[in-house]
Amino acid sequence: MTPIALIVEDEVALARLVHDYLAQAGFSVQLAHDGPSGLALARASDPDLVILDVMLPRLDGLAVCRELRSFSDAYVLMLTARAEEIDRVVGLEVGADDYLVKPFSPRELVARARAMLRRPRRRPLAETAPVLGGGGLTLDALRHEVRCDGRPVELTQLEYALLHTLVAAPGRVFSRAQLIEQVWGHAFYGDDHVVDVHVANLRKKLGDDAAQPRFIATVRGVGYCFGRRR
Ligand code: CA
Repeated sequence: MTPIALIVEDEVALARLVHDYLAQAGFSVQLAHDGPSGLALARASDPDLVILDVMLPRLDGLAVCRELRSFSDAYVLMLTARAEEIDRVVGLEVGADDYLVKPFSPRELVARARAMLRRPRRRPLAETAPVLGGGGLTLDALRHEVRCDGRPVELTQLEYALLHTLVAAPGRVFSRAQLIEQVWGHAFYGDDHVVDVHVANLRKKLGDDAAQPRFIATVRGVGYCFGRRR
């Protein structure tokens, strides 16, 4: 299958250059020049990889990445103009997978893109009881369906894998590193705090409150667990 790359970059000449390199590398490439049209294209084409500039008109790259994460597991490579933006870009706030600081070599970008797609996004889920959960949450592992108080909840594959890992071991406290190993795989080299971004999205979708958790509890200084701590 031809991987789909979406480039969201308002510098048209740069966007075209990156487009040509990725097309040459075998990607099917799409272009958007501002945040909202980038999101609209991402919803329509379900890309495998999104090359996302931080400074964009109308909606900046950080906001685009946050929104993207609510419906897509695409790899996100962010382009930053300034080194100071890096901390905000990588995992800490928005859940990007990698970044390049401008000016960058398009060859380097293609190498990073290929490396990301080679990384397993998630390990196959272990065989477990078909229906898991508790306290109003059910997770049907065969159908990949999640219900909260009987209401179906739409999750991205990453969110599902994260929730499955927690729910399959109620009361067990997982560190961020353990969750990354379970959900993202060994080859992940981003920031651990990417987990926090996905847990926050999960909580929002489940209507869970971090301060008074029904489902996912934060264990300060350690990580997360489902239900009461063992
Ligand atoms: Ca820009």
